[in-house]
Amino acid sequence: MKKIQVITLCMWLSLTMMAAKPVKNVIFMIGDGMGLNQAYAAAMVKGEPLVMMSQAEAIALQETYSANKKVTDSAASGTALACGVKTKNGMIGMDADSSRVESILRLADRNGKSTGIVVTCHLFHATPAAFFAQNVARGNYEEISRDLLTFSPDVFIGGGAKFLKDRKDGFPLAEELQAKQHQLFYNWDDMKQSQAFLAGHPEKQGSLMGFCAEEHLPDMLEGRGDYLPQAVAMSIDYLSRDKDGFVLMVEGSAIDFACHSSDVSGSVAETLDFDKAVQVAIEFAKKDKNTLVVVTADHETGGLSVLQKEDYQEGKTLKHKFTTTGHTGVPVPVYIYGAGAEAYPAFMQNSDHKAIMSRLMKLKK
Ligand SMILES: [Zn+2]
Repeated sequence: MKKIQVITLCMWLSLTMMAAKPVKNVIFMIGDGMGLNQAYAAAMVKGEPLVMMSQAEAIALQETYSANKKVTDSAASGTALACGVKTKNGMIGMDADSSRVESILRLADRNGKSTGIVVTCHLFHATPAAFFAQNVARGNYEEISRDLLTFSPDVFIGGGAKFLKDRKDGFPLAEELQAKQHQLFYNWDDMKQSQAFLAGHPEKQGSLMGFCAEEHLPDMLEGRGDYLPQAVAMSIDYLSRDKDGFVLMVEGSAIDFACHSSDVSGSVAETLDFDKAVQVAIEFAKKDKNTLVVVTADHETGGLSVLQKEDYQEGKTLKHKFTTTGHTGVPVPVYIYGAGAEAYPAFMQNSDHKAIMSRLMKLKK
């Protein structure tokens, strides 16, 4: 072989080997209802671009329609994001024919990775449910919660304590979870100070489960404080002790609630809080160098238009208009950072993430 051919071959081999290195961790962050206008409204109030925007290494546009509606709900889009299939509105972790489909978290778990869910709503609500449960109807909260006995992420933090007690089916879920060595916490202060969380390791038996409110956590404007960025930071710290990597799903759940109520200040406060959690994730990815961070929405809520920023003495307000109290069908942005960002297409479906992420992490089916 000529010298030039050998050099070319060596370069090709090293490039292929570089390309072949699997992505170790994925942090998948969903702003429920966070279209471009919700994100930009928050940026206008902040006075500078959000971290998710300024730090993105790639940005895509994502269609969100479901298998039976142009305008999706959180269940169908959550299932598309989590499980890689378009399904009918209302369905959780099942395809349009009601067959169970596997979420990226369940798949990562089978491949030996640690997994986590951190949200501000109750943990049996549509978006988190799509990542661990399989049910024909999003409102079947008691059935959905029982799916934790077949699959439980290593870290599971949000609200929903009321679904562990006062059950119509009388099922002793808390006891059953404890019998499987899972540790249950009923408020964030107890959980964040626990030895298990501070010094534990995901390869140890049992999951850490925080049901930190009866139902949803309070809204930002009702004093939720830094729960979300803190819970994301601590979960990353805990999960990253697994040498095989992790997949963490984070949801800023209340952006959607604020926009259903045509509350622009609530939407801005929730989006800014969610962006702080994004910053935590990106800072970890910068240090780790083998983590992919994907920030997107399941759909836009409210048909928000931002018309003008007006400065008042008491603070800043946005002149705006909501065109609906429901969801809209417009594509939403996807902000991508870190290892594997180049694998994302510019235009995509909400059902494309699972295939891209599993290919990047080289997960076996
Ligand atoms: Zn939603």
